[in-house]
Amino acid sequence: MAAIILATLSLGAAPSPHPLLPDTRITATAGAADWRVDYVFPAPVAALHFARSPGDRRTTSWTAPPGFEILRLDEDEIVRRRDRGPFAAVTLAVPPVYGDLPKDYAPFSRFGDGGMLFHSGRFFACSAPCEATARWPITLVAPPDTPILLDGRRYTGTVRWVDRDDGRNIYLGRNKPVETPDLVAMLDGALPPAIRTRLIEQLPAFMHFFAARLGRLPQRPMLFASYDLAHQGGYGRQGGTLPGQVFVHFYGSRWPELMQAPDFAQDLAWFFAHEAGHLYQRQVTTSDETGAWIHEGGAEAFASLATSAAAPAFAEAKRAKAQADCAKRLGNRSLHDVLAAHDFDASYSCGLLVNLWLDQAVRARDPDGLFAVWRDYIARAERGGGSEAGFLASVAAVGGAGVATQVARMIDRPKRMQALLTE
Ligand SMILES: [Zn+2]
Repeated sequence: MAAIILATLSLGAAPSPHPLLPDTRITATAGAADWRVDYVFPAPVAALHFARSPGDRRTTSWTAPPGFEILRLDEDEIVRRRDRGPFAAVTLAVPPVYGDLPKDYAPFSRFGDGGMLFHSGRFFACSAPCEATARWPITLVAPPDTPILLDGRRYTGTVRWVDRDDGRNIYLGRNKPVETPDLVAMLDGALPPAIRTRLIEQLPAFMHFFAARLGRLPQRPMLFASYDLAHQGGYGRQGGTLPGQVFVHFYGSRWPELMQAPDFAQDLAWFFAHEAGHLYQRQVTTSDETGAWIHEGGAEAFASLATSAAAPAFAEAKRAKAQADCAKRLGNRSLHDVLAAHDFDASYSCGLLVNLWLDQAVRARDPDGLFAVWRDYIARAERGGGSEAGFLASVAAVGGAGVATQVARMIDRPKRMQALLTE
């Protein structure tokens, strides 16, 4: 009888239309001790699937309780009971260490001054492969003496929020951010003072410059620079962006030497300006990669325009470098052809040159130049998405049809681009 009922159940039970989402509780530690994450599902599940599994790092670094295992199955890292039985709750131990995950955000970025930045998306999980529309209720518990910086606001103790999409970076630590009406910047107290000072000087000015031309963002952008000399195993730098956030992590012991390069601070300020430029572009991109010269070249041009008042020689040197790089990448092809051949870097160097030319050409009609084009383009993109045709329509609307025609030729015809390389 029991067997019949079981068979009926397994045949008749339709799979749940949506994977179950656990209540996720993250408990942070102040030092190097493992963090803890508790997952509690609303009903028993057969497995926990992580939403983001770039490789299988969790299978060797996270620890499951006795009777459970973490393994890679198909494309997902999952947690299940060794006896394959159902479970509604599981607690995992997570070492708070930096790792370079393929095509994903760093899970933890340690600050040399004792702070920590972590990526919430690393903890997202579901009872089956997660859906893009998932919303995760998350609770974070920090040590009582370690403030939390979440979405630009400071908390102590416990904080709860509902997370989604790619998640966000959250800071824990005692350092105070630099705050202006245009940004919140958390710059590692361990960074060399000359670099910190330069960033503190420039970043608020950059954000103010963009906000004045493209309008304030719905939330103040948050910039993070972490600097962990104690990192073991090589050195490197990893940067990235999430909605409203720009971050860069320096790790390894070689940085004090590398940071002595004369232009280091200026280069870093340019990086932040470029990435923040995407936030002010409202993250509008084109679906076709041959249009990358618009947002990548545009972000480079934003950085150049923001830099040129304070550091004109540096901006000019970047332009000269872009000319050399673009010439090398183009050969005798058009920018469109080069981008169609997946040379994405050309969208930065050649894109900078096209956008600076465009900025100048538009200024004859509108003193905001390229920014005036972007104001129009953002409004257009909100209606129909970003596209090269849309951008050129904005160029025509703001700068005149003649300027739009010239830009279209520049990216389509090798000879027209060549002219920019020798100016
Ligand atoms: Zn970019």
